[in-house]
Amino acid sequence: MPELPEVELVKRDLEKIIGLEIVDYELSNYVINGHKINKRTIVKQPLDEFRRVQNSTILSIGRRGKYMYFSLRKENIEFNLVAHLGMSGAFFIVNHLDEISEKNFKKHWQVIFHLLNGQMLVYSDIRRFGEMRIVESLEGFKPIAEMAPEYTEEIARAHFIDTLKSGRYDESFIKPIIMDSKILPGVGNIYASEALYLSHILPTKRVKNISRERLSNLFDAIVEVFELSLSYGGSTISDYRSVTGGSGEMQNKFKVYGLNTCPEGHTLKTKVMNGRNTYYCTKCQR
Ligand SMILES: [Zn+2]
Repeated sequence: MPELPEVELVKRDLEKIIGLEIVDYELSNYVINGHKINKRTIVKQPLDEFRRVQNSTILSIGRRGKYMYFSLRKENIEFNLVAHLGMSGAFFIVNHLDEISEKNFKKHWQVIFHLLNGQMLVYSDIRRFGEMRIVESLEGFKPIAEMAPEYTEEIARAHFIDTLKSGRYDESFIKPIIMDSKILPGVGNIYASEALYLSHILPTKRVKNISRERLSNLFDAIVEVFELSLSYGGSTISDYRSVTGGSGEMQNKFKVYGLNTCPEGHTLKTKVMNGRNTYYCTKCQR
């Protein structure tokens, strides 16, 4: 599942289409048929509301947590197309679908935006957990409105520590809590394990038993993992692909995720927490 660095890299790759008009769009049969039975596959609003993207111009592309958004303008009114890559979503900018080299991504295109320059912005999603919706303003979209500050914002560290120390999360295990975008946006299952290892904190530690100093170290570790991943082009495990279909190298830098031993040579433990595999070392972490 793409986490903050992967989504940020997709966003950066897509910036080349800023300024272009979306002249038309197509929806896959999965999307159309899903909507016929009220499943709202990919497009999370009635399809006639989605029609508004046609003839809109892309003013800018942004990211908040794991959400990307396209700021659009049509007839002097500005609005946003918000997208979430879900478990396996990917964007491609191509002249023809055949340019998508990976068979599964080519087959499982869900939305195609035809751009004024003749190119297509293709959204592919094999498992179809991705989301797209038009919203009037980002502030009116609850998941973004309720999100904690981005890790790059100066207040993010204080917000992270103060929220965790508010008492509300005392009995919670730390690992699932740092994956909550109200605490810090963009941490997913892989980087949660990695950051907890780097900061020597057990994923099963209860929040109330972690000092402010150690929480500050954890914040630093999350930033370190994000920045390292960005510099290596993100992680390519299972389904993440960059816009150009390339793949990142961060998976080769993991210290614990998916591994048998930690960098110190200790045998790692795994545990399913909130349905997600968690990797940790009982010698390096406490
Ligand atoms: Zn260890």
